[in-house]
Amino acid sequence: MPSHPLSVLIVEDEPAIAETLIYALESEGYRVVHAGTGSDAIRHFGKVAPDFIVLDVGLPDITGFEVCREIRKSSGVPILFLTAREGEIDRVVGLEIGGDDYVVKPFSPRELTARIQAILRRTQRNSSLPSNSRSEESSLISGRIELLLDRYVARLDGKNLELARYEFGMLKVFLAHPGRVYTRDQLMERVWDEPDSASDRTVDAHIKTLRKKIHEVDGSFEPIRTHRGIGYSWQSDDG
Ligand code: CA
Repeated sequence: MPSHPLSVLIVEDEPAIAETLIYALESEGYRVVHAGTGSDAIRHFGKVAPDFIVLDVGLPDITGFEVCREIRKSSGVPILFLTAREGEIDRVVGLEIGGDDYVVKPFSPRELTARIQAILRRTQRNSSLPSNSRSEESSLISGRIELLLDRYVARLDGKNLELARYEFGMLKVFLAHPGRVYTRDQLMERVWDEPDSASDRTVDAHIKTLRKKIHEVDGSFEPIRTHRGIGYSWQSDDG
């Protein structure tokens, strides 16, 4: 149980599901804010700066995917999707969207709170790692990249990269030891909540989206090197 209450923003339009979630999370000691539409969610997000977001895909105004994209413009807060249809899972897992994990309806409140706790445990463990400058905010700077660890913000040349959590996690692992080659298994162990459920393809997919986001800022910057048959490393030639 955290010493100060963590806040969770629940975005869900079905009252019965929302009430069940609110009850389950409050029972676990979380401070809960509820939004019933996508636009409410974005408004609440700006005000309460939640530690975690549970986000239904099917909302009455805009989709949960659009809400996620909007939030990812400024934050890497963990986002757990609630999906009703199997067909939506591919998009969430395929990481077009920037979500961190998903739960398929119907689910038990116990399953959901366990998932949230697993993600938060890793989040908090990661943000308590030592870093070079730990004053008001922990940050990790390597060459042109800066990570603000507490806020999950990554910047290249001062521009936000809008990373999903596992992309951010991999970047943090790379920057801690530039030049070191990590196998896919090592990346999974260090970054994923449930390494056993991840696969080599999952790592490759995240590397691909991470590269894409770096290229959106600088199309010629290639810091992630592929070591065929081994894994990946970060090349810090530029500093
Ligand atoms: Ca819904």
